Order: sequence, then C-alpha cells, then structure tokens
Amino acid sequence: MSSRAYVGLGANLGADLLATLTQAAQALAALPDTRLLALSSAWRSAPIDAGGPDFLNAVAALETGLPPLELLDALQAIEQAHGRERPYRNAPRTLDLDLLLYGGLVLDTPRLTLPHPRLAERAFVLRPLLEIAPDLVRLATSEAWQAQRIERSGSIPH
Ligand code: AMP
Repeated sequence: MSSRAYVGLGANLGADLLATLTQAAQALAALPDTRLLALSSAWRSAPIDAGGPDFLNAVAALETGLPPLELLDALQAIEQAHGRERPYRNAPRTLDLDLLLYGGLVLDTPRLTLPHPRLAERAFVLRPLLEIAPDLVRLATSEAWQAQRIERSGSIPH
C-alpha cells in the first residue's frame, strides 16, 4: 500500500542553495519504494524566528510505500548527508526536510507530529504547496502567512 506524502525542503547555508535543493529532490526520488510526483519551484523566504541569510524553500509530493517513521528516518539521513548540525534551536541549516503530510494521517508522538505543526502558518510551506496541491492549501484556515515576504526564485532541475 502506498501513500501520498508532502515534504518541505529548506536551505539557508552554503554556496549554492539551489544545488542543495536539487540534490535533496534527487535523493527523495531515489528513496526505496518511492516516486517523486511533483516538485514546486524554489521560493526565497526571510528566516522566521531565526537569524542568518534568506532560505530557499520548496515542497515535494511523493508516492511512497515507506511507513511514516521510516520516511522520517530517510529524511533525517538525507539531512545528515548534507552535513546538517544542530548547535542550537533554529540554527541556520544546510538542509532541513520536514514531513508535512502523510496521507490523511494524524499523529502526535515524540518523534513525529502529523500534519506538521507549523504547516498552516508558514508562507514558505504554503506558497510552494499552493503550486503543486492547490486544493490542499485552500483548506488552510490561517491567513497570517500571506503577509510574510516570499518570492519565486526559479525552477529546480529534476
Ligand atoms: P527540526 O530541527 O525543526 O527539523 O525538527 C526536527 C525534530 O522534529 C526531529 O527530532 C523530529 O523527530 C521532530 N519532528 C516531529 N514531527 C516532525 C515532522 N512532521 N517532520 C519532521 N520532523 C518532525
């Protein structure tokens, strides 16, 4: 059985943020029992509750047979492969991968909360999601994100 999952990609450290997102999208597409269904454009966004340079963000839609925790393990392995360190909360990161949605699953466990708790508040999630899953975004009730600065920054080769 496979499920539709949405993954948020973000990078704000490194010489070539687009290359980081491109490699991350390739890594997602190469996961076992997984297909990359859609990839949003790259969007540049100002950091929220964090310092450092602007982020480059995107959202990917996957069809996957991996169970949710195995998918989270795989996302964290991809982050690690990009040298992510966590010296302090909300520190700048080379690559951040969030599991936004996994089918219609609602989950609240120490390792995994679904839907992702900040999904509905973040322009850097909702704006790319609007490109690839407009019906989903119309369900979001919060409008606070619409005031946050974000601009399209081109497509990601894949
Ligand atoms: P962050 O540093 O913001 O990437 O948060 C990573 C931590 O959040 C990890 O310890 C995960 O186990 C936890 N977490 C809980 N829910 C999720 C989710 N939906 N997607 C990604 N990480 C999650």
